Amino acid sequence: MSTVVTCGTGTASQRQPTEHVYYSSTKSLCKTCKQAVDAKIQFSGGAVYFDKFCRDHGHQRVLVASSVEWYLDALSFIAPHTPPRGEIHAVRSGCPFDCGPCASHQQKVYMPVVPITSACNLDCPICYTVNKNEGAHQLSEREFAAILGHLRAQNDELDIINFTGGEPTMHPELPKLLRMASEAGIRRLTVSTNGLKLRSEAYVRELAAVDARIVLSLDTFDPEVDQRMLGANTVRAKLEALELLEKHDVTTTLLPAIAAGLNDKDLGKLFDLMMRKPNIVSLELHTLTFTGQGGAGFDRTARITTPDLHRLLEEHTGGAIAARDFVPSPLAHPHCYSICYLLALDGGGVVPFARFMGREKLFELLGDSLYIQPREPVEEALRTAMDELWADPDRLPESEALLRTLKRLLREMFPPGKPLPMAQRQKIAERATKAIYIHSHMDEESFDVARVMKCSIGVPEVDGSNIPTCSYNVLYRENDARFADPDMLERMGRTEPHPLLAPAPAPPANRRSLPILKVPS
Ligand code: SF4
Ligand code: SF4
Repeated sequence: MSTVVTCGTGTASQRQPTEHVYYSSTKSLCKTCKQAVDAKIQFSGGAVYFDKFCRDHGHQRVLVASSVEWYLDALSFIAPHTPPRGEIHAVRSGCPFDCGPCASHQQKVYMPVVPITSACNLDCPICYTVNKNEGAHQLSEREFAAILGHLRAQNDELDIINFTGGEPTMHPELPKLLRMASEAGIRRLTVSTNGLKLRSEAYVRELAAVDARIVLSLDTFDPEVDQRMLGANTVRAKLEALELLEKHDVTTTLLPAIAAGLNDKDLGKLFDLMMRKPNIVSLELHTLTFTGQGGAGFDRTARITTPDLHRLLEEHTGGAIAARDFVPSPLAHPHCYSICYLLALDGGGVVPFARFMGREKLFELLGDSLYIQPREPVEEALRTAMDELWADPDRLPESEALLRTLKRLLREMFPPGKPLPMAQRQKIAERATKAIYIHSHMDEESFDVARVMKCSIGVPEVDGSNIPTCSYNVLYRENDARFADPDMLERMGRTEPHPLLAPAPAPPANRRSLPILKVPS
């Protein structure tokens, strides 16, 4: 017979522990109507879940991290934030319905992501956004100039910008827009692309001439998996594009969206590819999100979380890379990014930065830009690491090779008495290091207001506003007629605009904007 415990009267031995541990609460969204709902953060079986209830759509539970240890470890990294500048919206409906930014937003934009076209030459089942090919929106030069003007006014320094779409190479003036960004003083111009147009050598040459950096979506080497995730077989085309990028020494990042049970098996091969090619400087691993087109129908068993990717990398590298070699980005919420930098040793092999300089120092070096910039703090950190290795060479098995490599690198990047231009120093640094960025975007199921309020990846608009990317993907883009194809919305069952984001009805034509004053007689 089970023991009935009346609240407050049971003895300790009678109380039954719950199957989960309640940790905290946050605000999330209902997966069906996208209205704000409370989410209890629960630990269960070593993993972290959101437990939610929507008045209209009932109880919902979603996995947000497969490891409590990682979840709490990330939260132990705390950094000050820099609030946004420029026009700030008033708080009216509450986060995330006041973007952006609104007066509640905690972090300025460190990476503007500009959707320059709504057109795309693929129609991927996993796509986390909505696109529109018929009557496609193409950002004009005048509009882009206005965006650049606002970005310059809102930021003392603009280090990086990302061009996205749709598929940004479908914009006929992409090279021109890249030149405009370069002339505005932005050093790192990144283009997120599926790579299909990069099979043209003339086009690659044109992009290389403006020093564009390519972020290539390469999800798998398996044509069958490619078909399921992208609805097409793109592997060969992407490998051809990669050859041209290498030939023209275009700095490249590989960006797979990782799906459990589909392309997670490819992670090791993607890592090896990065290690082999000098022009591939980083892996940007996205955990698959279920929003946009992907949210409408893609199998939820493919959900994967950051600690799973740590584990896969650790297994593949035999422990050469482990979870504790990663740190969060100080510029976003600690659960958004998990970052590992690797130093390529002269003579072969790699050592994670966290092992020779410590995780706190790595976290600190990421404090002024999303990607480490080889400035004076880096020089200082590397010199300190060398001093410590000299003092205690037994600390790491690779000490000798590490010291040799660091000495050469410092001499090349910071030659005494003749400072190199930043771009040149950057190139040397990027050819001696590799970076792994796990970026865990959110969908309506995993949405966490605590995270999006610290988002530093913003979608800038012509009027100077910008919307944090996860809010944009989950809520705002599908309400934007420039980007959302009505047929696609219908397929997704999203024919009505979100009640909190629907455009305000126009006032009646004869309405006075001020009440008529009654003058006392
Ligand atoms: S995400 Fe930021 S800008 Fe958007 S509503 Fe929340 S606090 Fe405001
Ligand atoms: S885009 Fe999403 S996951 Fe990335 S920093 Fe912003 S809120 Fe976090």
